[in-house]
Amino acid sequence: MHGCKPPRYTAPVKASILAVGDELLGTDRLDTNSLALTEVLRRRGVELVSKAVVGDDVVVIAEALDALRERAELLLVTGGLGPTRDDLTREGVARLLGRSVAVDEAEWDRIERGFRKLGRRIPRVNRKQAERVEGAEMLPNRAGVAPGQRIEDAAPSPRGTTYFLFPGVPRELHALLEDALDPWLAARAEDGAGFDQVEMRVACLPESVVEERIAQVYEHFGDGNVSVLARPGEIRLRLRAGGAVEGRAPRLAEMEAAVRDALGDAVFYVGPIEDGVEFEGAVGGLLAARGETVAVAESCTGGLLGQRLTATAGSSAWFVGGYLTYSNRLKKRLLGVPRETLVEYGAVSKPTALAMAAGARERCGSDYGIGITGVAGPGGGSESRPVGTVHIAVAGPADSRSHFEARFPGDRARVRQLSTQFALEMLRRMLLSGEGPADALPWAAPSRMGPP
Ligand code: AMP
Ligand code: MG
Repeated sequence: MHGCKPPRYTAPVKASILAVGDELLGTDRLDTNSLALTEVLRRRGVELVSKAVVGDDVVVIAEALDALRERAELLLVTGGLGPTRDDLTREGVARLLGRSVAVDEAEWDRIERGFRKLGRRIPRVNRKQAERVEGAEMLPNRAGVAPGQRIEDAAPSPRGTTYFLFPGVPRELHALLEDALDPWLAARAEDGAGFDQVEMRVACLPESVVEERIAQVYEHFGDGNVSVLARPGEIRLRLRAGGAVEGRAPRLAEMEAAVRDALGDAVFYVGPIEDGVEFEGAVGGLLAARGETVAVAESCTGGLLGQRLTATAGSSAWFVGGYLTYSNRLKKRLLGVPRETLVEYGAVSKPTALAMAAGARERCGSDYGIGITGVAGPGGGSESRPVGTVHIAVAGPADSRSHFEARFPGDRARVRQLSTQFALEMLRRMLLSGEGPADALPWAAPSRMGPP
């Protein structure tokens, strides 16, 4: 009998990850769960030595774990805890450890009660999800049915191995990382292991510009303590401080101040990595703090800006609505863009964008209006207005206005995404300083066209 032996070590030093699922071997689905697991390990100072992906096969699962346990004392397994016949992780682990698998009646009661509360009859196949590997501790799953499991085993001697079995559904995995793995690691973390970190987010600056500006931060604090993650129109900087626990917060504060010196108010968020504020939420927060509102008039972005703004919880406090005006007729009828403006300068022009922004603001009765009009491609470009040309305008109180003419690189989706990103940044800068940023932004059109 292997039973619940106490762990033979306090702090795990090395870990491996095994992702289980036939779907992960195909071309449709990538193993992303291991990234969430890796993040927790990094935070707690546990070295990840390898990760592997296997299909739903008892022997393959057992053999993979057998190899992995030679090099790591903590094995994190995700997937294969579902109710169907191809969910075989429990059986694979049991086979490796020479243990049995049996329904845990207390767990089954709990699952049944959960279903009854929802007024549902429980399918018989779900009994499988109450199966427990002999000696395992069940880890409650607040986001789903199948609990996770933690198993201590003496092999390989003398070190022993801890196995965590997690569900494959990402939402359930995340819940268990927070509820079970992270606290378990935190309780064992040796002083000085792991690190604290903070994320800083910047919009509308290219990675190269950010790199250049924070070069001295790298120099002063070390490359390993700053990492840069780029996404379209947004850069995330992760600042890390390890070593003695009491020294971490002051060092992070120092690093943060140095980055702020370098990037100024381009930084729109500083805080934890998880549940961080999205860009549109940060802009909405500024509006909320001032008790002001915004409306949008979108042409080439087709509602994407409104979609982003309203994806933010509580947006009804500062987003009033908007217009989706693709045709010239609707630009005139709904927004009051003068016919002469459209005839003289065209639909994709500075005067049209400004008239759209002003029209949205006036007709919605909001404090700010945003107008976007452009050529998202791949067709529709011309020599004077190539694909990627986008005019963005913001109209604000007391006749304040700003305009930006962009030449965005990339395909249709990227041009549209960047258009909304820059529109948000223009609004943000107007909220911060009351004036437009325009030419200071990257991706400005090389030469200014049309009227002033
Ligand atoms: P399972 O727990 O194996 O039944 O997995 C349930 C679902 O979660 C699968 O159908 C996948 O869609 C998803 N899933 C499983 N493993 C992973 C993984 N490693 N990364 C991302 N998604 C996963
Ligand atoms: Mg599966």
